[in-house]
Parts: sequence; C-alpha cells; structure tokens
Amino acid sequence: MIDSDITILGAGPVGATLSLLLASRMPDPTRLRLCRVARPPRPADQVATATGVRSLALNHGSRTLLESLGAWPAQGARIHTIHVSQRGRLGRTLIRHTDFDVPELGTVHAYDQLAAMLDQALAASGVQVLEGPPAAITGEIQGGLRLAQGDALWTSRLVVRAEGGADAAPAIEREYDQHAILTTVQASAPLDGWAWERFTRDGPLALLPLRQAGSQTTHSLVWCCRPAQARALMATSTAGFAEALNTAFGARLGRLGVTGPRLVQPLRLRWRRETLGPRRIAIGNAAQTLHPVAGQGLNLGLRDAAQLAHELGPWLARPEADPMPVLRRYADRRRADRLISGAVTDLLPRVFSTGLSPVEHACGLALLALDTLPGLRSPLTRQLLLGLRS
Ligand SMILES: Cc1cc2nc3c(=O)[nH]c(=O)nc-3n(C[C@H](O)[C@H](O)[C@H](O)COP(=O)(O)OP(=O)(O)OC[C@H]3O[C@@H](n4cnc5c(N)ncnc54)[C@H](O)[C@@H]3O)c2cc1C
Repeated sequence: MIDSDITILGAGPVGATLSLLLASRMPDPTRLRLCRVARPPRPADQVATATGVRSLALNHGSRTLLESLGAWPAQGARIHTIHVSQRGRLGRTLIRHTDFDVPELGTVHAYDQLAAMLDQALAASGVQVLEGPPAAITGEIQGGLRLAQGDALWTSRLVVRAEGGADAAPAIEREYDQHAILTTVQASAPLDGWAWERFTRDGPLALLPLRQAGSQTTHSLVWCCRPAQARALMATSTAGFAEALNTAFGARLGRLGVTGPRLVQPLRLRWRRETLGPRRIAIGNAAQTLHPVAGQGLNLGLRDAAQLAHELGPWLARPEADPMPVLRRYADRRRADRLISGAVTDLLPRVFSTGLSPVEHACGLALLALDTLPGLRSPLTRQLLLGLRS
C-alpha cells in the first residue's frame, strides 16, 4: 500500500502552484502531499522588511494561470512600457504592451503577497501540507519512493522536486561575479506603468513599479553589481547609497530616494541538463536557477508547473500505472523553453558587462536595432514575455 500518489518537495511559488493545479484534477486531493519547510518565527520588524523588498514581475501568461487558481493578488503594479538602455552608451529600446496586443507586459507583486494568496488557495484545496524540517527521498520500494520529513515517514508513487536552488544534483553552474542588491525606492518624477532595465558594465539595474499596502506606488530595485561594489553599497549610509544609485540610473525619474532596507543576494546559474530520475522530476528553480535579468525565473517555473499538471492529467486517474513515460514526455516538451530562457538570461548580463568598447558599441547598436526593427524585436520579447508553450 503506497501512502500518497504525488509528493511535492518545496512549497515555494512553483510547488504551491503545481499543488493547486493537481488538486483540481485529482479524484482525491488528499493523495497529494506538499512539504513545506517550517519558517522560524521572525520579529515583526523583520517580517515587514522582507515583505516590502522582494518583488516578482509576472507576465501575462503567469497572470492567466494564477487567476484561474484564485491565487492572483488583487494588489499589483502593472507594467505597460519597458525601457531598456545601456549606461554610458547611445541606444535604448522601448517595449510597449500594444506591440503584443496584451493588456499589460507584466504585473509586479511583493513576493510575500503572492505567497499569502497561494497559501490561502492551498488551505481550501484539500492538499495535505506537511510542515517541518527539509524533506528528502530516502529510498525506493516497488512502485514508489520512501520519504522523510523529520519524524514523518511515508511512501509516494511520484515525487516532484520543487525545492528551489537548494538541490545539490549535478548541474551546469556559472558564478556571475555579481550580487543583487534589493530595496525599494521613491522617484520624485514617477512614470506610471513604466519599468526600467539598465545595463551597466557591472551588471543590470532594474527598477520595477511596486504597490505596497497603505502607500503610493514606489519602485522595487534589483541592482546587480560586482561583489566588492555590493559590499561597499551595503555598508554605506542610506544617503550614500541613494547618491550612487542616482549616478548609476540617471535622471529619467527625477531624483530617487531610498525607502526600504537593503538585502543582498549572490547570483549564479544552476541548470540541470536532466530533470528526470526514477519516479521523480525537478521543476522551477530546482531545475534551473537563472540570473534575475528580465525577470524570467518564476515565469518559467510556472510554465513548468502548468505543463507537468497537463501531462499528469490522465495518469492521475490510474496512478498505479508507470509514470515514467509521462515524465519523459514532460521533460521533452519543456526542453526548448528551458534552453532558450536559460541562454537569454545567461547571455544578457555577460554580454553587456564585458567592459570591451567594441562590444559595448555593438550592444548599443543592437538596442537601437531592436527599437527600430520590430521584426528583430518580436521573437526575443515574445520569448521573454510569454515563453514557449507547447
Ligand atoms: C533578485 C531576484 C529577483 C527576481 N525577480 C524575478 C522576477 O521579477 N520575475 C520572475 O519570474 N522571477 C524572478 N526571480 C526568480 C524567482 O524568485 C524564482 O524563479 C522563484 O522564486 C522560483 O520559485 P520556486 O518555487 O521554484 O523556488 P523557491 O522560491 O526557491 O522555493 C523553494 C521552496 O522550497 C523549500 N525547500 C528547500 N529545500 C526543501 C526540502 N528539502 N524540503 C521541503 N522544502 C524545501 C524552500 O524553503 C522554499 O520555500 C528573481 C530572483 C532573484 C534572485
């Protein structure tokens, strides 16, 4: 007797979304277990800190998916224009929602707002959410796998690994020699619905509109820079940080003032060639952890979840059948999208930060070309906005 049909390791946004998708297709959602790592209680001021600073830009496809699950936060800042430029060089490109016939290019949510909506939907879904220390696969049995989370032991026919970048499986790795500094800023001359991606020699700098509870629209900053520069920027005063930011970003939004605390995160690529193993599959950041340029990671992970739920549909009615052909088909169908998103987000921050003048000129020209030749721009932007769906 196998205890559960599917166990999902990791209740981040990808694992939670997959749980909701599967629960709506399963004859008995209690046959699905979702393992969440219990968060240590945080003092109230630290909770507020984390809530305000971490943001996610979600594209139109992600919105449609999350809305269908009742997990789309009502409060979000819409992006209708993205301004892409290169510091110190000519050339910029504007991407507008009208170019793609979509109501918006993306919507920005605080990470915790999205997590709260997913938790709320999960509570009503019938899924068994297990909370404790990190869960792990501990062995194989006939027709399933053994699992453990603290003292809890059980068996499952299939395991989905959605534990984010924590997974130690062999992967292609690249250290970007960049850290991301995250905070919130207020502009003296804000432009409603605009997002900014500015490439510098040290890494890209993104400003996204963000709507926080009880306050006017601010901006979420993701500033990627060299580790030594990041350490200096983390150590400097708020005024010193604001000064450096205004110099790096320029005056397009007037004067930028820093409103939130600063968090720092090292950046690297982890890309698993093989997401498949015996009765297990990796999705989301567990399959690929990307550079945050162009806000692709979660959008890609949500497409993983949607495709996997789709492929597993018929198997859920007959879970005693071998799941491997289904998992193989899933892995094949996701290969191109994973590859393109991984390659684009790997290339962009490296090509703009070579420090070589001819390359920088070429990048400037490329941005101009993107702006003036819609035929060039569409395939790239379409991939970034919608990804590949099979
Ligand atoms: C600076 C920055 C900005 C970003 N901006 C964007 C953006 O604008 N748009 C976008 O689409 N993406 C963005 N991303 C990427 C996005 O954050 C990730 O792609 C997304 O969080 C991946 O979700 P996930 O559920 O796969 O993994 P995670 O969010 O990492 O969640 C994994 C969960 O699994 C848990 N876990 C780990 N090990 C175990 C275990 N053994 N058992 C049980 N649970 C476990 C973890 O505690 C965690 O809760 C950004 C990333 C960074 C670093």
